[in-house]
Amino acid sequence: MTEHTTAAHRARPHAGPTNASRPQVRPATEGWTQQTDAGGRPLLQFASPRRTQPETHLADLTLAERKAKVAGLGFPAFRAAQLSTHYFEHYTLDPEQMTDLPAGQRRQLVEAMLPPLLTEVRRLRTDGGDTIKFLWKLFDGALVESVLMRYPGRVTLCVSSQAGCGMNCPFCATGQAGLTRNLSAAEIVDQVRAANLAIANGELGGLRRDGGHDAERVTNIVFMGMGEPLANYKRLMTAIRRMVAPAPEGLGMSARHITVSTVGLVPAIRKLADEDLPLTFALSLHAPDDTLRDELIPVNDRWKVDEALDAARYYFEKTGRRVSIEYALIKDMNDHAWRADLLAEKLNARGRGWVHVNPIPLNPTPGSIWTASEREVTDEFIRRLEAAGIPTTLRDTRGKEIDGACGQLAAAE
Ligand code: SF4
Repeated sequence: MTEHTTAAHRARPHAGPTNASRPQVRPATEGWTQQTDAGGRPLLQFASPRRTQPETHLADLTLAERKAKVAGLGFPAFRAAQLSTHYFEHYTLDPEQMTDLPAGQRRQLVEAMLPPLLTEVRRLRTDGGDTIKFLWKLFDGALVESVLMRYPGRVTLCVSSQAGCGMNCPFCATGQAGLTRNLSAAEIVDQVRAANLAIANGELGGLRRDGGHDAERVTNIVFMGMGEPLANYKRLMTAIRRMVAPAPEGLGMSARHITVSTVGLVPAIRKLADEDLPLTFALSLHAPDDTLRDELIPVNDRWKVDEALDAARYYFEKTGRRVSIEYALIKDMNDHAWRADLLAEKLNARGRGWVHVNPIPLNPTPGSIWTASEREVTDEFIRRLEAAGIPTTLRDTRGKEIDGACGQLAAAE
């Protein structure tokens, strides 16, 4: 396997804007100040300031480890599989419902194996009930969110992987307060369990009345909630292994339906590629040139556009999975036609058929620099990518009305 890191694969420096009439808006925070490091650059936090983690939960462990733990507590090992079925297939934490367990042992087993992880603080519904945003309080008071969305034939859950985020992107509400802590694997998985329970209880609307097939549980996961998933790598991978393991070890989901999205932590992208899991991988690029991306995505200071694209290409080579490039179109900031050309050039320099681009329309926000590109500008951006042979799909941005769109999640009570 050849890594595309040679000069031959790098796009040549681009001439830059050719249409001088288009202004260039520079990224800046609005109403808050980015924390900076000693050198005055936006602070990047890779290590979690809060080390505490919740008690070990069944979902942190493999089935073999659960059996060993249950046996260590003096119960028959097969109780671990029964508890796992309740958790991963019935989505229940209630000992009273676990009638296949001896009445005298239920409570003790549940206390030992299923410590409470998420307390619901609030839920908001929108899209006529097809979208629910959950706000969860963790055992130490940290707050995280997940957003559940029904589409015809599938149900997607946008999950959080960290409380807060250390990547400090100037447009993002989550990054403002910095990183609080990494979520445990079970805290990530439990967001899915809780969403599945809500669906099973008929709390997610949007069922089709035309007899079409409606998913009865979460079918798709996107790691686009709070946090940079690759900054919490080990727990992320444990959570993903639980999601894809067949029941009762896990949720029995398809790896292809799990999307890991990153702002570009290059060594972790390469590690993910080597995991031998056909996950869907998305790189939140948002700019093809380092001049803009250094300001837009502070981690670009560490790993440049070309390095991130080389790592994304490596992901494709290792997994055969087509990579998604996420590109939020921001008026007069990153939506210039020359940037579409430069993006296409950089992607094509690394081969054909390995990538597609998802431009993300923002909501119009009058008075803010972080506002939607104009319709014609969006169309032209897409047209140029397509003309260069790059498959491009304008993304659905469900959940915006409740401020639950990706990168905008701000947990506050
Ligand atoms: S956009 Fe993503 S990576 Fe950047 S601060 Fe927000 S949550 Fe973190």
